[in-house]
Amino acid sequence: MIRPDIYFENVCPTLNMNIRSELYSVNEFTFAVAVILSAQATDKKVNEVTPALFKIAPTPDKMLELGLDELKKHIRVISFFNNKANNIIKLAAQLKDKTSNNLDYKFPQKYHNRCELMKLAGVGQKTANVIMNVLWNAPNIGVDTHVFRLSHRFGWTNEADNTPEKVEEKLLKFIPKKYHPIVNHVMVLHGRYTCKALRPNCANCPVQKWCNAKDKKM
Ligand code: SF4
Repeated sequence: MIRPDIYFENVCPTLNMNIRSELYSVNEFTFAVAVILSAQATDKKVNEVTPALFKIAPTPDKMLELGLDELKKHIRVISFFNNKANNIIKLAAQLKDKTSNNLDYKFPQKYHNRCELMKLAGVGQKTANVIMNVLWNAPNIGVDTHVFRLSHRFGWTNEADNTPEKVEEKLLKFIPKKYHPIVNHVMVLHGRYTCKALRPNCANCPVQKWCNAKDKKM
């Protein structure tokens, strides 16, 4: 089994760690909207619609002005757009306050807490973790399909860890703390471009000499 410290120390230099997410956004509100849109959709697909949407609705106030029907028109190519549009409008309403028309919108401090963040519409545990991780460098671990798959491939988790919550709990104990803020980002990029589900590109993998995953292809 590859050790987590060896994994992160060797994969990180091959990634651009300044870019913490591939989702397009212009402030903290739009990042949250992009993460909500990305559930069961690719970042690429989300990034096709968000530049035009965030040009006219970059803040909670502007999103409310845009309204549900217009929002749906902007995001209709994204899966589950009806449900996501409803949540985004509710989210904007929940965030409405005296700062909610700032172009450089930042979440009020009380939301820098997973329980509070999860009270917002459309924000489940995974979404909250990604927001806290990317925006505030928090030591949560957002477990999406790549983190889930790679954790099992590397043997960091086992069959009993069959939910994102169980995987997060295991990883928080197993991976040294200093790597927690970057786990999601690193594993998503490594899983998306190199350690892919069906055809991992092991020949070009920075950790191939330490990896003994059974799907390793050399
Ligand atoms: S060597 Fe292959 S299986 Fe192992 S981490 Fe790299 S890409 Fe994944």
